Amino acid sequence: MEKTALIIGGSRGIGRSIALRLAQSGFNIWLTYKSNHEAAYKVKTEIESQGVVCDLISFDVSNYEETNAALGARVEDSAPHVLVYNAGIARDNLLMWMTKDEWDSVLSTNLDGFYNVTRTILFSMLKAKRGRIVVVSSTSGQIGQAGQVNYSASKAGLIGAAKALAREVGKKNIFINVVAPGFIETEMTEGLPKEQILSLIPINRLGRAEDVASVVNFLCTEKDMYIHGQVIGINGGLSM
Ligand code: NAP
Repeated sequence: MEKTALIIGGSRGIGRSIALRLAQSGFNIWLTYKSNHEAAYKVKTEIESQGVVCDLISFDVSNYEETNAALGARVEDSAPHVLVYNAGIARDNLLMWMTKDEWDSVLSTNLDGFYNVTRTILFSMLKAKRGRIVVVSSTSGQIGQAGQVNYSASKAGLIGAAKALAREVGKKNIFINVVAPGFIETEMTEGLPKEQILSLIPINRLGRAEDVASVVNFLCTEKDMYIHGQVIGINGGLSM
């Protein structure tokens, strides 16, 4: 049977790697992104060279109506087998300087976006009585990070939301888990002081997007599955 994975924020970085890894596992991919059409087309080409189909869908996750218009009709006849909520942004600043816009934009993309997407597709998964959901949080959401009060709040919020949802949908054969990456080399972490960061990481390297993708792939494909409502750190020992 053909299976579909919906990857929210798959055009670049971690989401791109997750999409490629799930394509390798045989999933057709619905790949969403906000506006970076060129990057998304590149990923589509890479995915389809693996012999599966990739549909591109662009919308802003922070907008409920847009999200619903982009995904609502699509999930009426067929529920995705997998949802990976990966879209996210950072707008770092110390709280004493943080503008309302820096707070709102991060919370609305990272946390409201999870509601907007999951609310839109959950009914289809419940009807199908199966599904795997993986939410991409962050070490910042587990332990807090100075300069990231907005980002840490959004990522901690995702952990609470995922755990609560795990209690709602576990009986319906829908598994939901969270991954919490540490420092992963992507556009989001470009410009961070690498030497300073390395001294905090016991395995002495930054993470790669593939390090996250392999764990997400496991959570989405493993048949002998008893991991539910958990937060899995992928951080080289940065936080234990
Ligand atoms: P990235 O390279 O900046 O990619 C972000 C992805 O999210 C892109 O596909 C982007 O689409 C999409 N996106 C952003 N805002 C959106 C919106 N409003 N609506 C729809 N799509 C949107 O980020 P990344 O470093 O791979 O991070 C991916 C996730 O991992 C994020 O949730 C991030 O918080 C989390 N994370 C990252 C790290 C790290 O070290 N990199 C560590 C922990 C957690 P466009 O290409 O169209 O902009």
